[in-house]
Amino acid sequence: MDNPIRPLKRLGQNFLTNVGIQKIMIQALALCPEDLVLEIGPGKGALTDHMVQKAKHIIVVEKDRRLSEYLKKKYQMDPAIKVICEDILSYDLTLDFKKSGKIKVIGSLPYYITSQILFYLINHRFRIDRAVLLVQKEVARRIVASPGTKEFGALTVAMQYYTRTKIIRHVPAGSFWPRPGVTSSLIQVMMRPQPERGLADEEGFFCFNKMMFSKRRKTILGSLFRHVTPHLPKQKLSAILAHCDINPQNRYEKLDLEHMILLYNGLQHQGRRHL
Ligand code: SAM
Repeated sequence: MDNPIRPLKRLGQNFLTNVGIQKIMIQALALCPEDLVLEIGPGKGALTDHMVQKAKHIIVVEKDRRLSEYLKKKYQMDPAIKVICEDILSYDLTLDFKKSGKIKVIGSLPYYITSQILFYLINHRFRIDRAVLLVQKEVARRIVASPGTKEFGALTVAMQYYTRTKIIRHVPAGSFWPRPGVTSSLIQVMMRPQPERGLADEEGFFCFNKMMFSKRRKTILGSLFRHVTPHLPKQKLSAILAHCDINPQNRYEKLDLEHMILLYNGLQHQGRRHL
């Protein structure tokens, strides 16, 4: 099919032209004939083409009307593929994936909203089995970062809490057209719908976490006392930190996930109120 569709930078349109990487992505998705698939940002269908007749139902969500019209024509003879023209962040996947059964997600993501898409997937984790995604290398590094490194942040904690994510390989800019300004990484995200880490209030924890990371230059005691839990006296805070075996002069970003959770639970318990 001839297509003179001009790529739009503002929609992150760098099309994956490297067929080898396309195949690796499809392999990592491990498709079965009964699978339900959500593809984010299909573009001209470079990845979709590899999935034709390999899954039960494939929903592709593309924001650009020119591309979604192009795809509707391209796949009009295939009832298993449904093309939706919508912003993925406002797309309600429960409308199309009504029945139970886990969804596999694939996408060479538009990089201007990578983090939002990752949080979107986390919010739908009960319906998702896995996701195979192309993201910026820098984001992939943040996801798998270790405590104390500059990449370790709120995204790391959320992704490590709710998923098991691994970097499959890095992908050079020359694998796309037009060439993006950054190197990419192919990641596989396996969802943990019910992480068993003893966290009673997950929403509160991630809010707390965001606040603590926004003061990452400050000591833990300083952040808590001045910004996050000003309703608790310093002595009490010190006692909670000691109980959690956390050095009050340490920085929050140096803690591992276990200690972050311990601290949050300790503050909630001792403070007898929500943070
Ligand atoms: N999958 C195609 C490929 O590999 O060649 C295209 C990938 S391109 C990096 C990202 C795609 O996401 C583009 O087609 C773009 O139009 C689409 N897109 C951008 N923002 C979107 C959004 N908010 N919701 C859904 N799709 C979006």
